[in-house]
Amino acid sequence: MTELLQRVLPTVQKPARYTGGEYNEIKKDPDGARVRVAFCFPDTYEIGMSNVGMRILYGVMNEMEGVWCERVFAPWGDMEEAMRKHNIPLWALESQTPVKDFDMIAFTIGYEMCYTNILNMLNLAGVPLHSKERTSLKNIVFAGGVCAFNPEPLADFVDFFALGEGEEITPEILSLYDRAKAENWTKDKFLAEVSKIPGIYVPSFYEHTYNNDGTIAQIVPKYGAPKTVQKRIVENLDTAYFPTKMIVSSTEIVHDRANLEVFRGCIRGCRFCQAGFSCRPVRKKRADVLYRQAVETLENSGHNEITLSSLSTSDYRQLKELTDELIPYCRGNKINLSVPSLRADNFSRELMEKLQTLRKSGLTFAPEAGTQRLRDVINKNLTEDEILATCQNAFSGGWSNVKLYFMLGLPTETDEDVLGIAELVYKVIQTWKEHASNKKRGLRVHVATAYFVPKPHTPFQWEKQITPEEYIRRCRLLKSHFYSKSIEYNYHEPDLSRLEAVMARGDRRLGPVIEEAVRRGAMLDGWDEYFNYSTWLDAFAACSIDPDFYTVRGYGEDEVLPWDTIDVGITKRFLQCERDKAYDGLITPDCRHGCSGCGANSLLKEVACDA
Ligand code: SF4
Repeated sequence: MTELLQRVLPTVQKPARYTGGEYNEIKKDPDGARVRVAFCFPDTYEIGMSNVGMRILYGVMNEMEGVWCERVFAPWGDMEEAMRKHNIPLWALESQTPVKDFDMIAFTIGYEMCYTNILNMLNLAGVPLHSKERTSLKNIVFAGGVCAFNPEPLADFVDFFALGEGEEITPEILSLYDRAKAENWTKDKFLAEVSKIPGIYVPSFYEHTYNNDGTIAQIVPKYGAPKTVQKRIVENLDTAYFPTKMIVSSTEIVHDRANLEVFRGCIRGCRFCQAGFSCRPVRKKRADVLYRQAVETLENSGHNEITLSSLSTSDYRQLKELTDELIPYCRGNKINLSVPSLRADNFSRELMEKLQTLRKSGLTFAPEAGTQRLRDVINKNLTEDEILATCQNAFSGGWSNVKLYFMLGLPTETDEDVLGIAELVYKVIQTWKEHASNKKRGLRVHVATAYFVPKPHTPFQWEKQITPEEYIRRCRLLKSHFYSKSIEYNYHEPDLSRLEAVMARGDRRLGPVIEEAVRRGAMLDGWDEYFNYSTWLDAFAACSIDPDFYTVRGYGEDEVLPWDTIDVGITKRFLQCERDKAYDGLITPDCRHGCSGCGANSLLKEVACDA
């Protein structure tokens, strides 16, 4: 660590964010590392260290001989100020080497509102922002994560995107780079070769032209690039790399626990959910593999909490076998086992009772819409009876804290649907009055509404977003119908979700807007402390871009979409069909009732979709 950095650290909040040296971090001899990767998470240490994808890929890269991957996080504002004041360039935690000295700079991007952090981190590193300004093989910038499923807003800045799951594609990229470096390739040659790896999208190999109304006229691939790039998946999760020696952070992080991913993909098909579609097909890990990985991870880390994660953990077929093994182990070792994202319809009383013997946490449900009509539109296959039956189970089992999440602005939503939320909440309260085994503590019902953001690769990808003013009107309407003191209602402010919608469905004309926003001081937009909406509005105005073009306009079904070059496995025909069914109020049963032909099984070569 430089002397200067040592002097700066005591002047900033949480210096442990910046020092590295945690238990299980991977250090290598720099002289033996032919390829050095700065693996950047475009948010703070606390968020990045909680990211399972980052943990996995950190391990995958460091398993490779000749490769040393180190972590880099976005600094908090006080540290950024100190870095700029003292000319300290952004560095990687393991060796404190400046990021600009690395061969490759990788980003994992899971949230659209991190885009300014990417530019800010490159700027703090002293690395040119634009791909075309980085002309040599040094400092190749690549990115992955769910936001790569519409990479266009970042097309000016990122040299290439790796689409889908990274366990297999990442070593292929690094091996090619190793060869390119040894053979002294040009950057152009490297990009041409890396674009031949399935799952790699090089934005500069695609030319976009526009119609007079601003919509995209054509996307033309150049230099032999494919018309569409299909995402990569790992077929067999049982044999896939999993890091059982996770880094134990030395300061508090958001999810300070071991995390076991029980399966990937989702059988449900909620029509608003990008992850639900873009993570298909369904593949699971065997319970015995999970148990072994759980024990190894806990023993290697000393964590006292483990969570079973996935998009809908109660859909994991071997949940009973796994929890039957894991609960006694956790109980014996005083480890808290949490099973989040359980669905209301199959949250079994048996599992609730078993988990209740461990530390008790609140119940969380996401009915998303207040009426059955709208739940059918969004294909949230969940009835009011199921929600109330689950609450009844929970209340009679001693729970007295419920969180209910909804969205406002969903396609076809009316005031009746908005008020349906209030009705449902009162039915939950009534259920508590009738069935609570412990009324002394009183009931707390936390209700939160989010502003619907239409996302690419979903049946609602073409939908309009309602205006912020209309969203606020609906929030106030709902609030005016909450009278009970048991209810705590919070709604998300619309500004951030409006920008999220712009970035999620944006095209490459947004690059200058992001850059302008950064120039005007935008950073850490996901944090209330830093988010400044007017900075963004000024940036849009300066670039003559109307955000409404990407939000309230809605997209035509015959329009060329910015993400048409990206194939996540789900066919457009299926998405259109699902959209038609939404407007007809028809549900699509989950995959356990039969495959509905989403197309994702075409990604599987050796096994079938394991829904
Ligand atoms: S391929 Fe069929 S079973 Fe698999 S996720 Fe798609 S619809 Fe469901």
